[in-house]
Amino acid sequence: MVIEKQFADGLKSIARNLDIKEYIQQSPELYPLFQKSVKRFVTGESKEDGISIGDQLIHKGYRISLEFIGENTITKEECVRAKEEFIALMKECGNRGISSRISLDLSHIGLSVNPELAYESLLELAKVAQSNGLSLMISMEESAKTDQILSIYKRVVSEYSNVGVTLQAQLHRTLDDINELFNYSGAIRLVKGAYQEPSDICIPRSDKLDERYIQLVDLCVKANHQVSIASHDEVIYKQVIERGYLQNPNVEAEMLYGIRPDLSKKLKDDGLAVRVYLTYGVEWYLYLCHRIAEYPPNIYIAITDMIQG
Ligand code: FAD
Repeated sequence: MVIEKQFADGLKSIARNLDIKEYIQQSPELYPLFQKSVKRFVTGESKEDGISIGDQLIHKGYRISLEFIGENTITKEECVRAKEEFIALMKECGNRGISSRISLDLSHIGLSVNPELAYESLLELAKVAQSNGLSLMISMEESAKTDQILSIYKRVVSEYSNVGVTLQAQLHRTLDDINELFNYSGAIRLVKGAYQEPSDICIPRSDKLDERYIQLVDLCVKANHQVSIASHDEVIYKQVIERGYLQNPNVEAEMLYGIRPDLSKKLKDDGLAVRVYLTYGVEWYLYLCHRIAEYPPNIYIAITDMIQG
């Protein structure tokens, strides 16, 4: 058991340090191979790819989230370009009558340049989302950014209730944060947390983390607050289903495109609300790195996809 854990930790550390972009830059001939493996997790490079697959999923009975991939954008020009892409995406959804949640990282639209830029961009995006009948969901990034992200969220949701925010169950602080966020009307997306954080502020993957996750879901349900159970963990879903939460109109399941499609289909076929989180963009290697880091067996899936095409 100890050896298995050490092996899994070793794989995770290799995956976290993977820099697929660097590999591709050094060996451009690898690009088509990586593209084959990424197809499982990313819809394509353009918004048409995301919208078209999203539309198919809506017709099958799923809700959708769409994200234009990007994070830690470090020039103002790139942040403005990202904001404009999100605006174009929302207008296209609006024109085609596609009901979607739009997901984004604040560091994609200005947080790494200047928090005020992220605030102003988010405010503008919230307005466009509202006029197109859409909602926004802010992703949660590493703990060094949590205060800034929550503070920007609170300012914007006070004007636009169609904006929500993601909280990470793995951070000890989340118990306080969630109670504070019940004072705001935006939806909460609850995740375990994808970032490796210092042990004094974080609960590692364990039964204790699963208990904390369920405790946070309990709080959301008691507070009648809209919550997305964003997980691929059957243990979590078993408990949520036993409590009857997925029948509650405030509660939905949310899973990443290409991950546990069997589980999302089963929940949806059982008549429960399931959202699929779709991504697109040329920076797909970032997304592939995250998926491998959070679940190292994905590296084998990626290699198999490359070989089998
Ligand atoms: P884990 O505890 O990691 O794993 C439990 C079991 O679930 C595994 O044994 C396996 O059976 C299955 N499983 C988990 N992951 C995978 C996988 N990739 N492939 C196949 N099976 C898997 N994290 C953030 O920090 N910030 C965010 O803003 C954020 N947004 C997210 C949005 C959505 C919709 C989702 C689903 C996740 C998001 N995450 C985010 C990632 C999240 O924090 C976790 O890292 C990720 O969901 C894995 O945790 P888990 O709860 O799925 O299960």
